[in-house]
Amino acid sequence: MEISTLAEQVIAGNRRALARAITLVESAREDHRAKAITLMEEIGKCGRQALRLGLSGTPGVGKSTFIESFGMMLIKEGLKVAVLAVDPSSSRSGGSILGDKTRMELLSREKNAFIRPSPSQSELGGVARRTREAVALCEAAGYDLILIETVGVGQSETVVSEMSDLFLLLLAPAGGDELQGVKRGIMEMADLILVNKADGDLKPAAQRTCADYAGALRLIRKRPQDPMDFPKAMTVSAIEEKGLQEAWGEMNMLIDWRRENGFFDKRRSEQAEYWFAQDIRHGLLSQLEKEPLKSMISGLASKVARGEITPGHAAADVLTALRGH
Ligand code: GDP
Repeated sequence: MEISTLAEQVIAGNRRALARAITLVESAREDHRAKAITLMEEIGKCGRQALRLGLSGTPGVGKSTFIESFGMMLIKEGLKVAVLAVDPSSSRSGGSILGDKTRMELLSREKNAFIRPSPSQSELGGVARRTREAVALCEAAGYDLILIETVGVGQSETVVSEMSDLFLLLLAPAGGDELQGVKRGIMEMADLILVNKADGDLKPAAQRTCADYAGALRLIRKRPQDPMDFPKAMTVSAIEEKGLQEAWGEMNMLIDWRRENGFFDKRRSEQAEYWFAQDIRHGLLSQLEKEPLKSMISGLASKVARGEITPGHAAADVLTALRGH
C-alpha cells in the first residue's frame, strides 16, 4: 500500500490502518524505517492534538485496573481512548505485559478504545522511539486521550514523562507511615500522585500514604509549569471507581492552566528537541553495533585487552571510521 493511502486511512480513523501503521514504525528494517519517516511526516500535517497522559507504577499497584476503570469512564463521556506502553523488559519477563488486552477486558471490547502492548524490544531507546511515533499516530487517528503506561524499570519513567503532557504516579497504600521507596527523581516528574486501593480495610492506610506524599510534594522544588497547589496527591479506588472523576477534574484544571500560560506548547517544543537529540544519540550508538564497525570494535577490544594499543588510540580509530560512514 502507498504510504499516502495508509496515512489517509489512519487520519480517517481506520483501526486496522492504525495497527498497520504502528507495526511499520515498530519495524527495525531499514526500508521500513524510510517509509515510517514519510508516514510520520504525512500524518503530522493533520494537526490534531490529543491529551497525552503518562502513568507509572510498580507491578501490583493497580495500573491495569485503573486504566480499565478510568478509560471506561472517559469512553462513557464520549471520548476516544488509546492505551500504549513502554516496557523494555516485556520480551524477557514473559510476565504481565503492559498494555496487554486481557488485562483490560472491558476496555479492549470498546470500539472507541485502542490498546497496543509495548513493542517487544529489550532496548529502551528503541522502545521509546517506537512508542513516541505510535502516540503521534493515535493522535492523528482522532483519539482524545492517549494513556502511556510504564513500570518503574530503569529510565522508563523519564521516557514516558518526556512524551506526556501530564505524568501520573500510581501508588498502593503503604503498610506503615514510611514513604514507599519512591525515588525523588520520579516524584519530581509527577504532576499528580494517585494512591490507589482507597477502599475497604485499605482505606485508612491509603489516606495516610496520601497525606505523607502530599507532605513530601510540598518539599519539592516548585516548577514554573505548576499552579499554586500542584503537584498534588489524592486517593482513588480503581476497583470501586471512586475518585476517578475528581482526578480527571484535577488533570483538566492543570492542563487548562498550562495551556493558558503557554506551558503546554512550551513543553511539547522542548520534548521535540529532546527526542531529536535522543534519536541522534540512538542512531549513532546503533551504528556501532552494525558491521563493519562491530567487527572493528571487537578486534580493537582484544588488542586493548592485550595492551597492544591504548584505549584512547583505539577509540579514536573507531570514531575516525564512524566519520567515514
Ligand atoms: P498492575 O500490575 O499495576 O497492572 O496491577 P493490577 O491492575 O493487575 O492490580 C493488581 C492487584 O491489585 C489485583 O489483584 C487487583 O484486583 C488489585 N487492585 C487494583 N485496583 C484496586 C483497588 O482499587 N482496590 C483494591 N482493593 N484492589 C485493587
